[in-house]
Amino acid sequence: MQPLTNVSLRDYSTMRLGGTAAYALEIHSRSDLTAALAWAAEQQLPVIMVGQGSNIVWRDEGFAGLLLINKVTHYEVMDEDGTNFYVTIGAGEPWDNAVARTVEAGLTGVEALSLIPGTAGATPVQNVGAYGQEIANSLVSVEAYDTALRSFINVPAADCGFGYRTSRFKTADRGRFYITAITLHLMHANPEPPFYAGLQQYFAQHNISSYTPQTIRDAVTDIRTHKLPDPAVTANNGSFFANPIVDEGTLAQVKAEYDEVPHWPAADGGIKLSAAWLIEQAGFKDYHDQETGMATWPSQPLVFVNEHARNTADLLKFRQKILDAVRTKFDVSLEQEPELLP
Ligand code: NAP
Repeated sequence: MQPLTNVSLRDYSTMRLGGTAAYALEIHSRSDLTAALAWAAEQQLPVIMVGQGSNIVWRDEGFAGLLLINKVTHYEVMDEDGTNFYVTIGAGEPWDNAVARTVEAGLTGVEALSLIPGTAGATPVQNVGAYGQEIANSLVSVEAYDTALRSFINVPAADCGFGYRTSRFKTADRGRFYITAITLHLMHANPEPPFYAGLQQYFAQHNISSYTPQTIRDAVTDIRTHKLPDPAVTANNGSFFANPIVDEGTLAQVKAEYDEVPHWPAADGGIKLSAAWLIEQAGFKDYHDQETGMATWPSQPLVFVNEHARNTADLLKFRQKILDAVRTKFDVSLEQEPELLP
């Protein structure tokens, strides 16, 4: 065990902010993980495991423990027939590589989740979703080290507590599991219309009428490339807030003044509002904040961009300005998507 010491956490968050980790170590296998946990226990150090940091904001205070970087990479076909395909993917596998492989094999299930930054193991944590697909729809189970049972277990999808952009891994059982692999059930089939409005529009504009996993992946890749900043070039964590789910009364209140407010039915009778629309109406479209060095991305105000922030305190100050403006104007509270650690 030779962990690195005093490691900048900025390298483990695509927002590129935060303090220092006392120790950091790459994990390439399940046995690496158990050895690292044993070492941390001996040293009485807390442990945090990350993938590529695409949904993490580190506090400026840093982390006086052991940071594990998940590099458990594999792609194993578990079972297959003419219709069904089961694959187990190492948690540290870059997610888009895994999607590319499934699409090349002509499989449907996760093609609309193309170009989402981060690792495969991070996808169940916030039940990653885009363009009408979410990982919960294809996930069979999550393999994880359970710190409560002190052993590896398989959590079936039905026990993951999935909801809209959420799971038990970021709520009731936050910090309990270290995810090492996910198993997906995909289909040898073509996706069927109707598709998510943005995709449908793209197909119409480009005269595309052949719907395969590859045509969906290409469309999503093109749309995302034009609409969203590449975290390898521009520091950002993707959507900074989830779309809020509100009740009929709140919708009526917003509608009284803004009849055109975009909204969709959500689970359990709730109503989903567009966080991007609320932020834009609150005055933060293409907004560049000189005080904090933070900005909203011109074509998607839900994405915060670190232009020249000095630290996480600047980001949190910017976040508060937006939260306050949206609350004052609409009486709606937005919930942060990226996890604030430690
Ligand atoms: P968009 O197509 O401009 O739509 C704006 C919002 O309206 C989205 O948040 C979407 O909710 C909602 N929406 C649109 N059509 C809908 C429908 N038919 N039923 C229910 N909700 C609908 O969205 P966008 O910003 O370009 O993003 C496209 C997709 O990529 C979205 O699914 C978005 O969630 C996903 N995305 C995710 C992240 C992330 O970091 N997590 C970042 C960017 C984009 P949903 O978000 O629930 O789909």
